[in-house]
Amino acid sequence: MRWTQTFLPTLKEVPSDAEIVSHQLLLRAGLVRKLTGGLYTFLPMGLRALKKVEAIIRQEMDRAGGIEVLMPALQPPDIWQQSGRYESARDVLFKVKDSAQREWVLGPTHEEVITTLAAAEINSYRQLPKCFYQVQLKFRDEIRPRFGLMRAKEFIMKDAYSFDATDEGAMVSYKKMYDAYTRIFARCGLKAFPVEADTGVIGGNYSHEFMVPAETGENDVVYCEVSGYAANIEKATSRGALTPTPDVSTGAAPEKFATPGVVTIEALTAAPHQVPAASQVKTLVYVADSKTILVLLRGDDQLNEAKLLARTGAIQARPATPDECFSALGARPGSLGAAQNVPSTVSVYADEQLRNARGMTTGANDDGFHLRHVDVDRDIRVSQWADFRTVAAGELAVVSGQPLKIRRAIEVGHVFKLGTKYSEKLNSTFLAENGLRHPTVMGCYGIGVTRTLQAVIEQGNDKDGIIWPISVAPFEVCLTPLNVTPGAPTLVLAEKLYAELTAAGIEVILDDRDDRPGVKFKDSELVGFPLRLGIGEKSLAKGQVELKPRGGALMAVPVEEAVARVIEWVKTERASLQTVSD
Ligand code: ATP
Ligand code: MG
Repeated sequence: MRWTQTFLPTLKEVPSDAEIVSHQLLLRAGLVRKLTGGLYTFLPMGLRALKKVEAIIRQEMDRAGGIEVLMPALQPPDIWQQSGRYESARDVLFKVKDSAQREWVLGPTHEEVITTLAAAEINSYRQLPKCFYQVQLKFRDEIRPRFGLMRAKEFIMKDAYSFDATDEGAMVSYKKMYDAYTRIFARCGLKAFPVEADTGVIGGNYSHEFMVPAETGENDVVYCEVSGYAANIEKATSRGALTPTPDVSTGAAPEKFATPGVVTIEALTAAPHQVPAASQVKTLVYVADSKTILVLLRGDDQLNEAKLLARTGAIQARPATPDECFSALGARPGSLGAAQNVPSTVSVYADEQLRNARGMTTGANDDGFHLRHVDVDRDIRVSQWADFRTVAAGELAVVSGQPLKIRRAIEVGHVFKLGTKYSEKLNSTFLAENGLRHPTVMGCYGIGVTRTLQAVIEQGNDKDGIIWPISVAPFEVCLTPLNVTPGAPTLVLAEKLYAELTAAGIEVILDDRDDRPGVKFKDSELVGFPLRLGIGEKSLAKGQVELKPRGGALMAVPVEEAVARVIEWVKTERASLQTVSD
């Protein structure tokens, strides 16, 4: 490929609306252009890199026994109604109407479509297991599309769906995908690691996310360096708060006391009351699927909303408004409590950290008053105990007892064991060997292909631009003759090397622009081609050309060795990203 014949518009300035480095570099290196928030056009270099990620994914899916298909993006809403996700996923569903005012859904994911296919086509245990996959556009009505391709309204996903006859079989399928994901990210040069994950709106009972550590990531991962435990904070557990709950119980009955103007946990810790946060019960009022519920936590703990949804089985939950609090409990936030005047219709969920907590202080459900001497087990009608709190750094891991750490990360992939949730709703059943009909046991597996591409850039860059792993770079070598006047020896040699390297299977872009060397060098660093082969008049006079690995030192090489040296360098780089089984 010749630079002048492709379309590679680099930018000197950092685009003002790109907040994170990978988003800036996507634009500056001419990989993509924004149409509007969350919608991007891939330019040739971006598209080449994207296709490389896709090719790696396809190879590994095929190796793992995946069968490629392609499903429609436009889907009838009735299958979404059948699965229950027309409601539960309504926040992200894009809906469109046709000329007859009939509604359609733009697929954010494809469990409904693939299960409909399996329902029609898979009827016997003899056809199982099967694992279908596709690389396809997804549409999601994200409230806050941002960071370029990281959170877009339209993005490319590789999604796979496995169908098995038994639970054990489904675990085997899951493990195959899990291993394939490990290989895919390694081959993309990404340091991605699996963490235990919440199953969210998709449902199911077992799940891992593949995370790329990055300060700009939107996930918090809790991990233990000693045992290797790692979980999304939405799911993570620990041995509990580091400070024990002070046991100051006198056995006395709850006593109401005036706390005018005190409406926060913190305010109650101050004079004159001086109640430590760990001795307070925090009462949160939530509306979960239109039901009002109370969630109790220790005063210094934070609610984990993903856990709330998981434990209550609610599809959606939001904090109640002050008016809703008042109508449920007769008081406003700041004076709420569960020890007195709680209607029997209101379920009370309590965090495990509060078990046996005695001598606690909580709101009295009377504005301007609190209650002290509250023993949770004695005085509060708890409907369900569970883990609702958010783990904090430094708490001890459940199994190893070692301190947990927390770091930010980008979710690039997600594997779920779904069980029979979708197969039952959409009637994917099969005749087992014993002649009985059973629902198929499913798994689903997604990789954000466009997000993965950007994660590669977020992980590999320096002040000059992108540092690609060779497996994903748009071209492996940038061949840079400094004088491109027709007939100039630098250009003549460049054309010769270009032909020889291309014939040897090396991906070369020939920078044939008539530009200053500084501009050409800067651009090749910015776009980040792994190796630059520079041909300047001065070194050529000495019979030499220059090899410059991106981010490495310049090497002068005799002209006659150039092709062999480039091939060797490229092959070594390629090999470093191959997995054992390649
Ligand atoms: P997130 O929590 O980031 O919204 P998700 O858990 O909803 O993602 P999944 O349904 O698990 O996403 O989709 C599989 C993969 O698709 C994710 O792991 C992620 O890499 C990618 N992905 C999801 N949403 C987007 C988006 N809006 N833009 C780009 N990629 C996305
Ligand atoms: Mg996910």
